[in-house]
Amino acid sequence: MKSPLYFTLQIDCESMQASVNDPDLGRRASAGFAQCLESHGLPGTFYVIPPDIEAHADLYRDLKQRGHEVGVHVHPATQGYEEFLGIYGPDEQYRILAEATDRFAQVMGYRPTSICIGYVSTNDHTYGVLESLGYRQGSNSMPGRILPQCVSIHAGAPLDPHYAHRHNRVLEGDMDFVETPVTVDPDSRMWGGAHPQDLRVELVDAKNHYYTILKSIRRQLADHTPIKSIRATTHNTFDYSDPNNFRFQTLEGIIAHVQRLAQEHQLELKPVTVVDLATAYRNAVPPGSKQKNLELDRKGYERK
Ligand SMILES: [Zn+2]
Repeated sequence: MKSPLYFTLQIDCESMQASVNDPDLGRRASAGFAQCLESHGLPGTFYVIPPDIEAHADLYRDLKQRGHEVGVHVHPATQGYEEFLGIYGPDEQYRILAEATDRFAQVMGYRPTSICIGYVSTNDHTYGVLESLGYRQGSNSMPGRILPQCVSIHAGAPLDPHYAHRHNRVLEGDMDFVETPVTVDPDSRMWGGAHPQDLRVELVDAKNHYYTILKSIRRQLADHTPIKSIRATTHNTFDYSDPNNFRFQTLEGIIAHVQRLAQEHQLELKPVTVVDLATAYRNAVPPGSKQKNLELDRKGYERK
């Protein structure tokens, strides 16, 4: 039997952020993204900031009905706070995230369990706060990123889905929160070396993404990771309703590459939402079963 290659595609929906402020584009982009995915039989995960979900409630309710996942995206500045969540202590983070959660629940009629923090700006308080608000999975890590100016520092963080650590954002832990970071190539550095090339549609072209996907699959097979997965992302600030749009074509390219590389590596492609990816991880690695021992590698000290 072939082992599965899980494939998630997420989109951060934030067209009403001050720097974008184009809700019509946001609506077209989200609807077009869903249509593109559906044409390939793929479900999407839509992480939506409160202003976008309030403006386009009908669209996101409909997407949920159609089998997509709708979770929360948070940019504190759209709620009247500072731009980056990572500057805040636990009580302030709780207040900001509780507000976003309540506004989401008002519109969608359910408490969300998946979340993505804007700029991946988090600190060591964040996972505990997410847990206390009922969140159980999400994309809140960018392995290898060192961007203190966005309070987004994730050097050394795990490359694959894992249980979060209560006190340290870059360690695997025993929380019942499955972190599902976007796929990155940790060796291909961008932005002057501050950021790894990630599988964000708009970052590069489909050819560059091909190598990120290939390298990630090879590494997961070599490392015998408990589950294999590819996790792509984008934003609803590109017009995915237009097949001539370069980002649309890059998205199509990523999907084609993942389909082909799954086949070439004898893996069964399983397109899933983030919540289903987290469930697959929980099934493969029951909570509490994995004890990661931290130990200094002293082999270099050995003498003959
Ligand atoms: Zn965002």
